[in-house]
Amino acid sequence: MPSRFDVAIVGLGAMGSAVACQLARRGGRVLGLDRFAPPHALGSSHGQTRIIREAYFEHPAYVPLVRRAYELWAELEGQTGRALFRQTGGLMIGRPDSAVVAGAKRSAKEHSLQHEVLSAAEVRCRFPALQPCDGMIAVWEPRAGILFPEICIEAHLTMARKQGADLRSDEPALSWEDDGGAVRVITSKGAYHAGQLVLTAGSWIQSLLRDLKLPLAVERQVQFWFEPKHPVHFQPERCPIHIWEHEPGRFFYGFPDLGDGVKVARHHEGAIINPDSINREVGPEEVEAMRAFVRQFLPEADGPLRATVVCMYTNTPDGHFFIDWHPAHPQVLIASPCSGHGFKFSTVIGEVMADLLTAGQSRFDLSLFRNRFP
Ligand SMILES: Cc1cc2nc3c(=O)[nH]c(=O)nc-3n(C[C@H](O)[C@H](O)[C@H](O)COP(=O)(O)OP(=O)(O)OC[C@H]3O[C@@H](n4cnc5c(N)ncnc54)[C@H](O)[C@@H]3O)c2cc1C
Repeated sequence: MPSRFDVAIVGLGAMGSAVACQLARRGGRVLGLDRFAPPHALGSSHGQTRIIREAYFEHPAYVPLVRRAYELWAELEGQTGRALFRQTGGLMIGRPDSAVVAGAKRSAKEHSLQHEVLSAAEVRCRFPALQPCDGMIAVWEPRAGILFPEICIEAHLTMARKQGADLRSDEPALSWEDDGGAVRVITSKGAYHAGQLVLTAGSWIQSLLRDLKLPLAVERQVQFWFEPKHPVHFQPERCPIHIWEHEPGRFFYGFPDLGDGVKVARHHEGAIINPDSINREVGPEEVEAMRAFVRQFLPEADGPLRATVVCMYTNTPDGHFFIDWHPAHPQVLIASPCSGHGFKFSTVIGEVMADLLTAGQSRFDLSLFRNRFP
């Protein structure tokens, strides 16, 4: 295999696998490197399920991106014959002035998205698994649902390989350097020359950008599965994905039971950690803290604990993504689209990055994600 490429990609998780697929489709000589063998359970993209939703409470600017992401997920399903998405509808639940409710309503209104506003009593009646208290309301969006992250990554990697990308597992990039306007990437197994470099190393991205001191913090997050006491209410036909702002600025979310129990997790409030020394054990006090929310808002899911899995968020200070060229090396594209909500966008972010790399521009408004260097 040649050691000279048009583009080298470091990190083949959610984002790296998507950009590899998009670039290979355009005919470039693409090298992809990963320190592990993706899809794996050591980064940010494991745990069976991820939420996709359209009435984006974080900011209306995400809506055009997520709409394109839906199209690309459907396209990838068609190309690979794999089931990547399951539509369940979604509920954003909180006080009327909470970020999840007010933000989802704003996005739905601004982009004319199909939605309904339900009272707590209406939610309890239509979706008996979910028991919001009086005073809460919910925004219902029918197009929301579930992506299967490991299968999605596998699908992107399969398509990238089919289209000629050279993808290498268990080969960490140790460093990279400017090579007369191109790049030289040094790995555990050798050195490669590429015209451009994409850094999509997730929680490890700062180790490849030590000079930049990006304001990114890696946060430990635990996913929990509980056995439901009344399984019928948690079937995907009766239980949509749900995100709760139970107190101002405090969130948890959950999924229907897809056969392994009811998955729930808190959004943020985890410890800030080093990805190389993260504690992957989950203590009983963490289970109890999660169970307290289950007992209050999903009481029929308060059965035995089935499983826990530790994962990592890579957060920016304001929660919006980071996608930009390296300020000193215009042939290096950096992408940290996480902050706990990036997976759903990985198809479209792959397309955006491929457009930036091959055409120098994207048709999407990326201003929320650029010019964020300290
Ligand atoms: C618990 C949890 C729940 C989430 N829920 C949702 C959700 O419901 N919806 C949603 O949209 N998003 C969600 N997210 C966020 C989403 O999963 C992430 O934004 C996304 O997976 C990040 O993808 P990534 O490609 O940046 O990182 P990863 O998928 O982790 O990929 C990074 C890759 O880089 C590799 N790597 C690192 N260093 C090197 C190196 N030096 N050399 C070579 N390879 C390297 C790693 O091995 C890894 O494979 C959640 C995240 C977590 C943790």
